[in-house]
Amino acid sequence: MRRRTRLFCRLLKLPILFGGIFKLATKLAETSTYGNFRHGAVLVKGGAIQSLGFNNEKYCSRGAKYRPEEKGHATYHAEIRAILGVPYHITRNSVIYVARVNKIGENRISKPCSMCQSVLAAQGIRKAIYSIDESNYGIMKIDTEV
Ligand SMILES: [Zn+2]
Repeated sequence: MRRRTRLFCRLLKLPILFGGIFKLATKLAETSTYGNFRHGAVLVKGGAIQSLGFNNEKYCSRGAKYRPEEKGHATYHAEIRAILGVPYHITRNSVIYVARVNKIGENRISKPCSMCQSVLAAQGIRKAIYSIDESNYGIMKIDTEV
């Protein structure tokens, strides 16, 4: 799903909040040390930021449950870092914003992987909004029935 940023913001009716949260997710991504795959995530509910995370290369047992072996070692993805330890009553029906940056700080695609989708679904998270590039974002509805 691709949309121009301005159109997207108008549809969401969240121009300031949306831009600010994405900037924050991008800043978090910049703090990651994971090579070309630097991601940041912000969990939002009721217009308030609930928690933050960025990815790292450490083994993540929570993610491993949902990751097929052939996909390799489950590491801490930003989405998982952002929701670990957050109670279900907060994660339920929340929205997660995920941004990725390249080496020079430009946004790149950060669509949640299948492992993260499963973890997000298990936590009742309703939607993921992710960066596509510098001016486009995607929306993913999380199927919580999984
Ligand atoms: Zn992931």
